[in-house]
Amino acid sequence: MPSRRVVNSDQLQSFTSGYILNNIEFDKQHIWHPYTSAVSPLPCYEVTGAQGVHLKLASGEQLIDGMSSWWAAIHGYNHPKLNAAANEQISKFSHVMFGGLTHQPAIDLCRTLLDMVPAGLERVFLADSGSVAVEVAIKMALQYWACQGRPEKHRIITPRNGYHGDTFAAMSVCDPVNGMHSLFANTLKQQLFAPAPQSRFDHTFSEDDILPLEELFARHHHELAALIIEPIVQGAGGMRIYHPEYLRRCRQLCDTYDVLLICDEIATGFGRTGKLFACEHAHISPDILCLGKALTGGYMTLSATLCTEDVALGVCQGQPGVFMHGPTYMGNPLACAVASASLGLVNQNHWPAQVAKIEAQLKASLPKCLQLPTVADVRVLGAIGVVETRQPVDVAKLQRQFVKLGVWIRPFGKLVYIMPPYVIEPEQLERLTDAIYQVLTP
Ligand SMILES: *Cc1c(COP(=O)(O)O)cnc(C)c1O
Repeated sequence: MPSRRVVNSDQLQSFTSGYILNNIEFDKQHIWHPYTSAVSPLPCYEVTGAQGVHLKLASGEQLIDGMSSWWAAIHGYNHPKLNAAANEQISKFSHVMFGGLTHQPAIDLCRTLLDMVPAGLERVFLADSGSVAVEVAIKMALQYWACQGRPEKHRIITPRNGYHGDTFAAMSVCDPVNGMHSLFANTLKQQLFAPAPQSRFDHTFSEDDILPLEELFARHHHELAALIIEPIVQGAGGMRIYHPEYLRRCRQLCDTYDVLLICDEIATGFGRTGKLFACEHAHISPDILCLGKALTGGYMTLSATLCTEDVALGVCQGQPGVFMHGPTYMGNPLACAVASASLGLVNQNHWPAQVAKIEAQLKASLPKCLQLPTVADVRVLGAIGVVETRQPVDVAKLQRQFVKLGVWIRPFGKLVYIMPPYVIEPEQLERLTDAIYQVLTP
């Protein structure tokens, strides 16, 4: 059997068949990456280290990270407290099944979480990833109504431009265009879509925003199990930032028409928008809350679906009397220990000042991009900065330019956006915003 071991470059050149490859070539030929082609994948950069707000590449370059590894690494990389939590737990035990067993890391994490989340949420379901947290939330909502003897309430309503993950139930509530529902038309559940909210966060709220949703509720409430929404910031479905009044009215409609409210705070949770949870901008609590991404400070995958006592009791009423979900790695102790340590850092409460400082700097520096003919809009909330271009960007080209400028920013579609670790320094943030301006200058 040929070996795929890495060889030196002389040896490499002596092989004419492609089975011994350097890292980047091997990766390109054999490994899927998110949302890329297996036939002509976008180029990848090999990381050999990450420290604070820096990513170190195999080429030796150091990049300032503008992405927090997709909202997750809020405290920066290689954090001594998170490392210590992982090491301490790994020396005790890394995993045990959660069926019939429990442990301190899960108990500590859930105690802390329940103290932090919006009022009324009492029960925690620990799952593997954000998408699974959304699956669990939707399943809870469906089982809740089935167990109330109302199985006809089985559809989910959601605004367009949402993103809730890549598994099938989650996909069914993603924006039907961005989420390419036509590809999966025979498989995806037909959910109900309302127009995306248009009123901007800090402008006045237009009643026109809520009217279509009100009409849909009035017409369809008898078949609606839940409304699912990303509070205040619609992430991967468009990086849109909307008015808190819209979310308040969603809560009211759900109350009026007996529909559960699911808030997906997988991206927005843990301070990113300037509030601990984005729900707080609207002073509402959901019936079901999904958390993930920054939950472990970017160390490993873990998510949580929380619900009210009413939902938990409703789900377990009648037959089958249990909630029908239980991943193999549920409550993974290593992930829970690191998540607890990460929440410990959050609860030291440095983030409000850090996020406010990032927000002020983004608001001072990003609007300059509006002068560029390539730019259509600039949006900022908390530690999130978005520049929307007029045309979709050439991701590979921009990526290359960003790396040359010493920053890590990963655009998609018409969106060049940053959500850096909260610990970023003003000079480092300036490097990010300067780089955006520079690459978008024609
Ligand atoms: C990222 C994300 C998800 C999916 O989480 P994964 O861990 O990638 O499965 C769901 N909802 C929102 C709002 C997200 O940003």
